[in-house]
Amino acid sequence: MSGPLKITVLGSGTSVGVPTPGCHCKVCTSDDPRDKRLRPSILISYDGRNVVVDTTPDFRTQVLRAGVDHIDAVVFTHAHADHIMGMDDLRPFNFRQKTRIPIFAAADTMESIQRCFRYIFDDRERESSIPQLDCHTLNGERFDLFGLEFLPVRIFHGRAPIYGFRFGQAAYLTDHSEIPEASLEQLRGLDVLFLDALRHNPHPTHSTVERSVKLAGELAPRRAFFTHICHDLAHTQTESRLPPHIRLAYDGLELEVESNA
Ligand SMILES: [Zn+2]
Ligand SMILES: [Zn+2]
Ligand SMILES: [Zn+2]
Repeated sequence: MSGPLKITVLGSGTSVGVPTPGCHCKVCTSDDPRDKRLRPSILISYDGRNVVVDTTPDFRTQVLRAGVDHIDAVVFTHAHADHIMGMDDLRPFNFRQKTRIPIFAAADTMESIQRCFRYIFDDRERESSIPQLDCHTLNGERFDLFGLEFLPVRIFHGRAPIYGFRFGQAAYLTDHSEIPEASLEQLRGLDVLFLDALRHNPHPTHSTVERSVKLAGELAPRRAFFTHICHDLAHTQTESRLPPHIRLAYDGLELEVESNA
């Protein structure tokens, strides 16, 4: 394919979302809509196709809010609850489209998905509907989705090796504490780079604002967007201390990126 693709940020929040239930802090009670963050996910649209990265527990709300009327594929980064738990809400798209929906994940992620959603995959006769999905296991090689090439990028989420994805002139890395050297080589000089920036304080499985600013400096994307953000970071105040080409992602943010890699 050629021409631009569109990225819509469906959610920019950490695993519990912002506001965090029960919390009365400044960010959780903020009036700024950009301080309201659903769980982390993006939609990639091109050539009339919609590919979603991760089905969060907020997936239903996210597709309604973004006006998504079809889904052609789902790509999973890893099997933590904040990235998979909305998968059952693919059903209405099966009904509308009258097709199965392909899902893509690394072998260990696929195994966890199949364990968590055993009722979808156990081949039993049933009276109620279940998502109709075709599972595709990723082996680290690039793969084609409707004419757009996706490159799985190995990143470390604490001790767990998971995937980020590069597509066209963009890459989406949502949960990482460490990025191996070989992966850094795959991420240099992009137009748009999404990075994990949970908060300022160090965390064993996530990056911080400071680390991701350094990473963005090293990888030199034209624009970097931070995501997987917790309630420590107020949108306006945090951005005011960032260089102009590094911004916090927010729910509903739309970006255009060239599709040629
Ligand atoms: Zn996460
Ligand atoms: Zn809070
Ligand atoms: Zn995670």
